[in-house]
Amino acid sequence: MDKAKPVLALVAHDNKKPEMAVWAASHKERLSLFNLVGTGHTAKLVQDATGQPVKAYLSGPMGGDQQIGAAIAEGQIQAVFFFWDPLSSQPHDPDVKALMRIAAVYDIPFATNEATAIALLSYLATH
Ligand code: PGA
Repeated sequence: MDKAKPVLALVAHDNKKPEMAVWAASHKERLSLFNLVGTGHTAKLVQDATGQPVKAYLSGPMGGDQQIGAAIAEGQIQAVFFFWDPLSSQPHDPDVKALMRIAAVYDIPFATNEATAIALLSYLATH
């Protein structure tokens, strides 16, 4: 990790992983301005899609969302890109809510879909 770069956290539920991979690949120049972290499978997916190293936390259902929440509380994350699935129930829904809550507590930008991710990444890359 380049300590000078802000850190973006990436999470995608299973049905949204293809969208995350396409978004990451098509924004890899902008993403390279940041350090990237993510939940386990999402981190590997984005690393493969961009060729950029992505620090992997645990998989979301195994505690990865909570790890990202803890990193937010410790001031380590500048923004979250969470492509969540609004059409399927998730076993770790309480963890997802907790992550959204802690991001709100610390006023961390939180993109919950691709359209917002495009807008937020554009803003972050130019400000
Ligand atoms: P994953 O976790 O990236 O390890 O699949 C994402 C999630 O479902 O929260």
